[in-house]
Parts: sequence; structure tokens; C-alpha cells
Amino acid sequence: GKGIAVLTSGGDSQGMNGAVRAVVRMGLYVGANVFFIKEGYQGMVDGGDNIVEANWSSVSGIIHKGGTVIGSARCKAFRDREGRTKAAKNLVKRGITNLVVIGGDGSLTGANLFRQDWPALLQLLVKKGEITEEEQKTYSHLNIVGMVGSIDNDFCGTDMTIGTDSALHRIIEAVDAIASTAYSHQRCFILEVMGRHCGYLALVAALSSEADFVFIPENPPPENWGEKICKKLQQERSMGQRLNIIIVAEGAIDQQDVPITAEGVKKVIVDKLGFDTRVTVLGHVQRGGSPSAFDRLLGCRMGAEAVLALMEATPETEPCVISLDGNQAVRVPLMGCVLKTQAVARALQDHRWDDAVQMRGRS
Ligand code: ATP
Repeated sequence: GKGIAVLTSGGDSQGMNGAVRAVVRMGLYVGANVFFIKEGYQGMVDGGDNIVEANWSSVSGIIHKGGTVIGSARCKAFRDREGRTKAAKNLVKRGITNLVVIGGDGSLTGANLFRQDWPALLQLLVKKGEITEEEQKTYSHLNIVGMVGSIDNDFCGTDMTIGTDSALHRIIEAVDAIASTAYSHQRCFILEVMGRHCGYLALVAALSSEADFVFIPENPPPENWGEKICKKLQQERSMGQRLNIIIVAEGAIDQQDVPITAEGVKKVIVDKLGFDTRVTVLGHVQRGGSPSAFDRLLGCRMGAEAVLALMEATPETEPCVISLDGNQAVRVPLMGCVLKTQAVARALQDHRWDDAVQMRGRS
């Protein structure tokens, strides 16, 4: 059968295990030999015990676990030709010519580069006498498929990335817990959430928790935001509102690119209004805990589709990433999505906020 390997790379997220499980079981179902690559690209470069053949039961009892049981890493060596050559040798020696990469845009860029470079890498290995010409011929082409695992939902081309829904559950649990204590004491709570340069987590958390304000990178507030926010808070208190919730995305900035932090917002409120104001920075709690039903299923469906895509791939097929389009797992061009994701980052840098939001759409 065909050799398929699956790895997780970059930041971990809930639901990655469901995706790994689906790749393994769908792969076995279609008669492939399936391998885990542990510790991301580092495991592929190092080889040895990092690449192990999987069977049906090796993915039992992982769907409910957060993070990724096969480990993830950032790997400097894979950025260089030398590292990728070692990785290629490790795959050829195990008959692997199909790769499922679960990670962010960096990981998928690396996978695409590896695929493009593959023939040259094999040529180099033949020259060095590390693989035979026969092996070079048999394994002449590498197929890749990507899946996006990220709590940030910051990838262009998919409605949801694997892990976002679970992170939202963690955030909402925290806001609800905080709201009850804030209500008792008439406090103002400021919550900082993750998301890097994407305000999705902050925005959705704010909408679902009746927050008073939200700060996101895509919509920097006007210069006088301090005054505006205090006026509104004062008004609400005078009308009997006992608690205030403000959500700040970790990447929030003002129109001059100055970061807006939870502590900064607190200072403004305390200085102007003297409200009892508390800050909670949620941090890694958002990545933790068990994946939501949505993320488990998302991983499963995407993993199964990834294997089908590999089975149908020819050397001429453009590499794809499995994305969620409405309620369907579909294939979209990998590099198109990566380039668009990078274009969004540039648009945000250049203060073209509307462009960034437009481009973030699915297609
Ligand atoms: P996250 O969104 O969680 O940060 P990511 O996949 O974008 O995930 P990166 O740190 O950018 O995270 O990339 C993960 C790994 O992918 C890197 O450590 C490196 O091994 C590989 N990689 C990234 N970019 C490239 C590249 N241009 N060429 C080769 N390898 C790359």
C-alpha cells in the first residue's frame, strides 16, 4: 500500500488528535501504511523512533484529549536544505510519499517547499549514496495535504480552524465565572484573550458574553477611546448595571500602532472613574482542556478528507488544504490560502484594516 505519514507542527490546538486519528484510520481503511511523525518536522529530520508505524488501536482513546499526543515542535533545521535532505531520506527509507501536515501557515509553507524540493533532494541523496537510483525512481514524487490546527481562526480559506471552538468554550467559561463575582461586587473586569493578529476569539467571546467593549486588531479605536469608554461605563453604572466586562485581544492596537493592553485599559478606567477594576489574562488555559464536540468532529472530517485527497493526488495535482466551507470539508489550493493569510498580515501592518477583514473571508 501507499505510505502516508501524519505530523502536527507549530502551536498545538484542541482537536488535533481527532484529526490524527481520522488520518490513521481512514488511511488503514483504504489500505495504506500509516506512520506517525512525532515532534513535528524535528521528528522527520531526526528520524529513528520519531517515525513509527500506526495501527488501528494506536489512536484509540485520544479523541477527547487536548493538544496533540504525537507532539509538536518548531524546527530550525527543516528551514535549511540540509535538514530537509535528512527528512527526505527518513521518508524514502520507510516508503512514505504522502504527508499530512497539521499546523499553521508556517508549517504549510514548509510542507510546500519540501514537496517542490523533493526531486532535487532525492537526486542529492543518490549522489551521496544514501539512497539507490531504484528508490529515487520508486519514490519520485511527494504528495502533501494540509489541515489548519490553530485556536486563532486566523487562516484564510476556511470557516473554522481546528481548535478555535474549544478555545471559545474555555473563554466563555472564564467570562461566566468572572461575571458572577463581578456582579456581586460591582466590579469592572477586563479579560485578555489570545488570537495573535486575529480578533476572532475576542469578538465572538464579547458577543456571546454581553461584553461592554471589545478591542481587536482589525478595528483600532479612535484616539479618544478612553473618554468614550468611561462615559459609557459611567452611564451604565448610573442606570444600575452592576458589572462590566471588557475583552481585549492580545494583538489589539490603537490607530498609532500602540498596543492596547488589559492593564492599559484598567489604568484609564481607574484614573478617570475610580471603579474597582480587575484584570484577568487567560493565557494558555485557552489552549487547554478537552476539545469540544465541534472540534472533535471537525478534525475527524478533515482527516478523512485529507486521506482521500492524497489517494487521488497525481504529480500534477496542486497541493490542497482541507477547509470547512459551511458544513462541508472541502479541498482548497494550499499556497493560495497561505499567500492570502500572509497578505492579511501585511494589510494589518499597513493599516488597511477593511482590506484585511475582506480577505479573511472564506474564498
Ligand atoms: P502557528 O500558527 O501555531 O505558529 P505555524 O505553522 O505558523 O503555526 P511556525 O513556527 O511558523 O508555526 O512554523 C512551524 C515550523 O514549520 C517551523 O518551526 C519550521 O520547521 C517549519 N517552517 C515554517 N516556515 C518554513 C519555511 N518557510 N520553510 C521551511 N520550513 C518552514
